[in-house]
Amino acid sequence: MNYYGNPVSRLIEELSKLPGIGGKSAQRLAFYIINMPEENALSLAQAITQAKKNIKYCSLCCNLTDSDICPICEDLSRNRKVIMVVEDPRDMAAYERTHNYKGLYHVLHGAISPMNGIGPADLKIKELLERLKDDSTEEIIIATNPNIEGEATAMYLSRIIKPLGIRVTRIAHGVPVGGDLEYVDEVTLSRALEGRQLM
Ligand SMILES: [Zn+2]
Repeated sequence: MNYYGNPVSRLIEELSKLPGIGGKSAQRLAFYIINMPEENALSLAQAITQAKKNIKYCSLCCNLTDSDICPICEDLSRNRKVIMVVEDPRDMAAYERTHNYKGLYHVLHGAISPMNGIGPADLKIKELLERLKDDSTEEIIIATNPNIEGEATAMYLSRIIKPLGIRVTRIAHGVPVGGDLEYVDEVTLSRALEGRQLM
């Protein structure tokens, strides 16, 4: 599909690799970008390269950050004895929006999914266990998504963390099964947190 010349075809091809962007959307976006004022297009390109270059994982919680430690881990007013484990930085953002949680987080960057070839070693579990070594953690709240992968991950974590003498809880299922935490409203998330149960 090289109707438009190589640079345009390449732009369409790159855009179509993005999640949720099919061929038609990629074409629409590509033409939108081409018709943008040059400075806007450059600013978009720079935003992508800068984000990619400067964003790394927080060396404690594995959240995305542009410094060594993310602002949440750096905030000394937070309860450092509680760590909520989430799959994705967006889940963490969802809990932050509830203003109901004042502990720390740990971001796994995914969930165990044998079907997709994702095992514990592919997630930030080693980093979590490293954090638990100093005995300062009293509770781990597992807030992985309420679907098969999220449950498998919760079971796995509970099995390896409970023997360390740390209280392991799972958020309640006010959240629809198969739902994506990111899209659940704040009240439901707060209730799920308050109703968490011992694993
Ligand atoms: Zn952090």
